[in-house]
Amino acid sequence: MSIDRSELVKESFEKKALEFKAPEARPSEYFGELVFDRAKMHKYLDPATLDALLKCIDKGEALDRKTADGVAEGIKTWALEHGVTHVTHWFQPLTEGTAEKHDSLIDYDGHGGVIETFDGKMLAQQEPDASSFPSGGIRATFEARGYTAWDPTSPVFIQGDTLCIPTVFISYTGEALDYKTPLKKALKAVSDAATSVCKLFDPAVTKVYSYLGWEQEYFLVDESLYSARPDLMITGRTLMGHNSSKNQQLDDHYFAAIPARVAAFMRELEMEGHRLGIPIKTRHNEVAPNQFELAPIYGETNLANDQNQLVMNLMKIIAREHGFVVLLHEKPFDGVNGSGKHNNWSLGTDTGRQLLAPGKDPSGNLLFVTFFVNVLAAVQKHNAVLKASIASATNAHRLGANEAPPAIVSAFLGKTMTDVLHKLLELPSDTPIEIAGKKGQKVGLVEIPEIFVDNTDRNRTSPFAFTGNRFEFRAVGSAANCAGAMTTLNAAVAEQLTIFKAALDKELAAGKALNVAVMDTLKPIIASVLDVVCFDGNGYTEEWKQEAIRRGLDVETSVPEMFKAFTTPQSVRMFTSTGVYTEKELLARNEVKWEMYTKKVQIESRVMVRMALNHVIPAALEYKSKLLREIAASQEVFGSLDGCSTEVELVKKISTLVNDIYAQCDEMVEARKTANHIVDEYEKAVAYHGIADMLFKLRRPIDKLEEVVDNKLWPLPKYRELLFIS
Ligand code: ADP
Ligand code: MG
Repeated sequence: MSIDRSELVKESFEKKALEFKAPEARPSEYFGELVFDRAKMHKYLDPATLDALLKCIDKGEALDRKTADGVAEGIKTWALEHGVTHVTHWFQPLTEGTAEKHDSLIDYDGHGGVIETFDGKMLAQQEPDASSFPSGGIRATFEARGYTAWDPTSPVFIQGDTLCIPTVFISYTGEALDYKTPLKKALKAVSDAATSVCKLFDPAVTKVYSYLGWEQEYFLVDESLYSARPDLMITGRTLMGHNSSKNQQLDDHYFAAIPARVAAFMRELEMEGHRLGIPIKTRHNEVAPNQFELAPIYGETNLANDQNQLVMNLMKIIAREHGFVVLLHEKPFDGVNGSGKHNNWSLGTDTGRQLLAPGKDPSGNLLFVTFFVNVLAAVQKHNAVLKASIASATNAHRLGANEAPPAIVSAFLGKTMTDVLHKLLELPSDTPIEIAGKKGQKVGLVEIPEIFVDNTDRNRTSPFAFTGNRFEFRAVGSAANCAGAMTTLNAAVAEQLTIFKAALDKELAAGKALNVAVMDTLKPIIASVLDVVCFDGNGYTEEWKQEAIRRGLDVETSVPEMFKAFTTPQSVRMFTSTGVYTEKELLARNEVKWEMYTKKVQIESRVMVRMALNHVIPAALEYKSKLLREIAASQEVFGSLDGCSTEVELVKKISTLVNDIYAQCDEMVEARKTANHIVDEYEKAVAYHGIADMLFKLRRPIDKLEEVVDNKLWPLPKYRELLFIS
C-alpha cells in the first residue's frame, strides 16, 4: 500500500491546536516544584545534614556516607510525596542526549513484603555497564566498568514517576566518559584562575562563576508528514527535497505571530520547564518557516547545561503530544536557515561583580578590560580547538554556509570596544578608564559606556561576539551538548588568566602600581588581539577567508581534520595544565568523535540510497511509463510524434536524471565499501567526509526530478508542506 501524500497533507493541515489548560497557579507558585532545591533542602534535611551538604555544594567538600544517607532520607520523603516509584542516575555520555537506567525503589522488608528504600549509597553512586557507551578505547584498554557519581551542585529532580539524580560518568580508572566531568573541571579551573586575578582588585572575592545563557533554535514539523519521510525519521534531516517557491526570502516568519498549534506546544513546554526550575523566558519565531527559538534566563554554566539537556528531552516529548516532531538537527532543510544554539557566556564573582561588564569606577573598568582582553587572547590562541569543540557531522552543514558563522573563529567587538582598545594602546598606562559622559567629553581619557545599548550591534556573521556584558558563542550546534563548547572555552580562558597573572606578578614585583602593572601587561596582548582575532567585517566573504589565513587563524573546513586541533601540543598543554583532560582522554575522545562522524554519514548514505531506489526512481519510472503510454497512443492515432514533443522531452529528462541517480547510488555504495575497510578511525572519517560530499551531489538530480514528476505520484512530503503546515 502506498502512502497517499495528499491525504497526509490534508489531515495535517486540518489539525487544530490542542486546548491548553492553563494551570490555576502562577509560574512563581509552581516554579521548581519538581526540583530538590535549596528551599526543599531546608525543609527536608536535618540541620547537620543540611550544613554538610551546603559545604559540599558551595565549597566543593567531599560528601561522606553519613551525609549522603541523611540527604537520601530527605529526598525520599519529598519524592514519595510526589508519587515517585523509581530512581535513576541521569548522565550525559558522549552520545547525543542523556542516559538513564531506572530502578524501582522497592526492596524486601524482611517479612515477605516490600518497602520503598532509598539510601546514601543509591544516591551517591551506581555502576551502569559502560561497555555500550562510546569511550574511544578507554574501555578496551582499561576496564569495561564505569560508574556514575552524584553531582551535588546540580539538584535532583523528578520526571514523571522517576527521581533523577544528575551524575558524572567515569571509568573505573577515573577517565571521564561523559560531558559533565570535564565541564566541572573547566569551571573549577576558570574559577581558580579568575579568582586569583580578582583578588588583586578585591580581596573579598573567593570564587568566580561561569554563566551560560543558551538560546535553543528548533524546527517543528507535523508528525504525520514526518512519518512519511524516512530521512527525517532516521537522520533528523531531509536528505532530498526541492526548495519551496517561497521560503524565507520575504523575512515574514522572524518574530511573526506564533501559530496557534505551536503556541499551545510552547505554553505546555514552558510550564513543564518552570516546574523543573528552568527559567524559560523567551519564545519567538525564527528566520526560517516553522523554525522557533526558546531561551531561559542565564545561570551557572553546569546547571544551565543540565537544564538545556532537560529542555531538549522535554521538547521531544511534549511536541508529540501536540502532533509535532521537534527537529534539533542543525540543518534539517536545505535552502533555509539551520538551527544553532547560541551560548551566551560570562564570568561573575561571588561578590556579585559581572566581570565582562564595565564597572562603576576606573578600577572596576580596569578589571573589566582585563577580563575582556584575556578572553580575546584565549580565543585567539585556541581558535582552532574552539572551532573543533563545536564541530560535528551535523553542524558542518551550517558552518561556512551563508547563514551562520563561518568556519573561522574570530571575535566581534563592535566599534566602541575596538576604539577603547586602540585608545588604551596609545595612552599612558596610568590613564583612568572612565564611564562615558560622566565627566563630559575629555581629551586624553579612555571612556566606555556604562551600558552598551547601541554598541552591541549584531554582527550575525561572527561566531564569537561581544554583546555588552557577555560574549556570545554562536557557532554551537542546536543538537549539541553545550558542555563541549563550554569546557573548551572556560579551560582556554583559565589557562590564559594564569599566564596573564604570572606576567602581572612580575610587573608588580618590579614595584609598579596595580593599574600601571595591569596595563603594561595588557598592552602587548591588546596589540596582538586587534591584529589577529578581532574582526568586525562580513565573515561570509572570500576576502575574509584570505585575510584570516594571513592572520594565522584556522580556516579548516573538514570536520574530521578539525578534531585534530584537540591533540596539538598547544591544546594538550592547555587542557592538561588546567586539569580538564589528560592526554589519554583527549586521544580517546577524538576516537569517539571520528567514529560518530563516520556513523552519522554512513547512516545518511544508506538512507539516501534506499530512498533513491525505493521512493524516487519508482515514482519517476511510473510517471515515465505513463508518458510513454501517451506517446504510444498518440503515435497510434496520429501516426507520428507530432503533438507530443513535451511528453518526449519529459521522458528524456526523466531518463537522464534517473540514470544519473542510479549511477551515483552505485558509486556511493562502492565508496562506502572501500571506506568500511579502513581500520583507523581518523582515516575512515576522512573517507566518509568524501561520502558526505557525494550525498550533496546526489540530491541535485533527485531534487530536479521532484520538479519534473507529476505531483500526485511523488511519495515524499515536499518542503512546501513540511515547512508551511503548523
Ligand atoms: P538575542 O537573541 O538578541 O541574542 P536573547 O534575549 O534571545 O537575545 O538571548 C540572550 C540570552 O543571553 C538569554 O538567554 C540571556 O539570559 C542571556 N544572558 C544575558 N546576560 C547574560 C550574561 N551576563 N551571561 C550569560 N548569559 C547572559
Ligand atoms: Mg543571541
